[in-house]
Amino acid sequence: MTTNDLANNPLLTTTGLPPFAEILPEHVVPAIQHRLQQAEEEFTQLEANVKPTWSATIEALDEMGKLFERAWGPVAHLQGVKNSPELRDAYEAVLGDMVTFGLKVKQSQPIYAAIKELKESDAWNSLDKAQHRIIDAQLLAAELAGISLEGKERKRFNEIANKLSQIATEFSNHVLDSTKAHSLKLTDTEEVAGIPESALQLAAQSYNQSEEKEEGIEATAEAGPWRFTLDIPSFSPFMQHCKSRELRKQMYHVYTTRASLGELDNTPLIDKILKLRLEKAKLLGYKNFAEVSLATKMAPSVAAVEEMFETLRSASWEPAQQEMKELQALAKENGETEELKHWDIAFWSERLREKKFDFTDEQLRPYFSLERVLDGLFSLVNRIFGITVHAADEKASLWHDDARYFTIDNEAGEQIAGFYLDPYSRPENKRGGAWMDDCLSRRKNTEGSLQLPVAYLVCNSTPPVGEKPSLMTFREVETLFHEFGHGLQHMLTTIDYADASGINGVEWDSVELASQFMENWCYHKPTLIGMTAHYETGEPLPDALFEKICAARTFRSASNMLRQLMLGMTDMTLYKQEKYDDSFSAFDVQKEVTEKTSILPMLPQDRFLCAFQHIFPGGYCAGYYSYKWAEVLSADAFSAFEEAGLDDEEAVATTGRRFRDTVLAMGGGQHPMEVFKDFRGREPNTGALLRHSGLLN
Ligand code: ZN
Repeated sequence: MTTNDLANNPLLTTTGLPPFAEILPEHVVPAIQHRLQQAEEEFTQLEANVKPTWSATIEALDEMGKLFERAWGPVAHLQGVKNSPELRDAYEAVLGDMVTFGLKVKQSQPIYAAIKELKESDAWNSLDKAQHRIIDAQLLAAELAGISLEGKERKRFNEIANKLSQIATEFSNHVLDSTKAHSLKLTDTEEVAGIPESALQLAAQSYNQSEEKEEGIEATAEAGPWRFTLDIPSFSPFMQHCKSRELRKQMYHVYTTRASLGELDNTPLIDKILKLRLEKAKLLGYKNFAEVSLATKMAPSVAAVEEMFETLRSASWEPAQQEMKELQALAKENGETEELKHWDIAFWSERLREKKFDFTDEQLRPYFSLERVLDGLFSLVNRIFGITVHAADEKASLWHDDARYFTIDNEAGEQIAGFYLDPYSRPENKRGGAWMDDCLSRRKNTEGSLQLPVAYLVCNSTPPVGEKPSLMTFREVETLFHEFGHGLQHMLTTIDYADASGINGVEWDSVELASQFMENWCYHKPTLIGMTAHYETGEPLPDALFEKICAARTFRSASNMLRQLMLGMTDMTLYKQEKYDDSFSAFDVQKEVTEKTSILPMLPQDRFLCAFQHIFPGGYCAGYYSYKWAEVLSADAFSAFEEAGLDDEEAVATTGRRFRDTVLAMGGGQHPMEVFKDFRGREPNTGALLRHSGLLN
């Protein structure tokens, strides 16, 4: 590689927006290797000369991080939106070295010691609140990575980390293998009556691709054979629509006993994971693993989380009984003589939904063209936050013709941020789902210039076809608002340190506040109706359809709430234990929690925990509560606007500016509880979430 090649490598730019149109897979390896080599040298220097000052520690690390933001950030982004075998190979070729270098920085003893000394020195008092938060977060991260442990303890700590990572892989493999091991083959059209066309298509395709496929038989959606599996896209519609109780019962049974039998049994792994995490917690000086999880979160204590659980649970219990009675009554009306069982719930819920809300995604789509929805969204944020969004494609180099670039101005007309929008699905090279990611973080550079924040907003909406514009489902509209909420928190930040600006350094049980807050506006009538226009007739969304959308929002909300609480409470109870006796069983915990959170008792053979990926191999251990925690925050934040009067423009604008100056501005620069209190004038409570869920009388 010659110097000239490096000079022309688009991943090595140091200013402006990434030149996406020029970036090719062959640029990745030389650019990243160059940056790594440079960073290794600088880091060695830094460790050798480190002093307990802000500029010699955090700022110096940020200078290094800044170059990776420009070299590695676009590569990771293109992996998601313009994937190719060449790019994947290049990415994987350098990923290992990137991870190793990252760990080296995080686990550096000299840097840790210097930051700690800084915290204990007089210089600490001359730093601002955001700097304090950054330093505290760095020290805590290093401590949780075992940096203060020595000798035997350190050795054991590393052993535990290795074991946990092996067990996590084993656990996931068992779930995967046992999910694959079971399927149900049907050949009789009677047995699949009522199951939607799309699910039958999937089932026929699954048969054709399976080992069960017989010579000369080609399955079709109409004539079968159909093969239903335990994968959610197959399992869910089956449980919702298969009319045969017996077949539903069979499927339910295999689903809830996945990874619990024979060689694939995860029961001993659950035991090991719990014990190892507890041992790790104790080595770090905590009473239990739940405390370790909460150390980096907004929730102050296990007791606070449990208090939230209990408030939501007790408010949902009685309404959930009513919801069950309603299902039972509907079933009876339709000739079901027996009591409903676990495998009947999804089926009768769907019948009830059809009876109550007879609308489909397809009926709504014609009203939601992407252009109208964007106009509505941009005018909403103008009204509430005083910002103006401008189309600015000409200012950016883009990775695809569909991608766009926008800038955001403040009231004074100064640009404060930018964002890319990649709206349409492109199955050939773009990942599914929707996400917001940071392209550039807001930071004051050492020489004094300001780097403005830039975000990526990526969706997978239906692309335009011929004359027909992109028409969105209501869910896609909500998703766009959700991701835009994350984007606003990234872009409207006023913090000048990259480690705490925007979404950086925000505790993850509060990071969904801004995103879910924005979703609420999709249920505000003038906002929603205002962004609809039938693409052929120009008619706005009819009132009747709007009412149905709102009613559907609270459909079976008590039962859904209890289900989430069951998962969260089981998780927290398992991880708050301070010891595990030989008689301890995770299933006993699940059973006890189920008694409080489910109308139907836990079936003795239920081994759902053996496939609960979030909390055993996954990162949600003692963190599953976060879903509800963030919902409480976002509903409570939105209720400040409701109290001010959603149709009072001036009040909405005043409240909106306050939301902007607190939640959207402070990033990780202040504790999220303080940020929330600054906005709301008090601590969060569950009232608004219960009211929005239709669970407050
Ligand atoms: Zn989100």
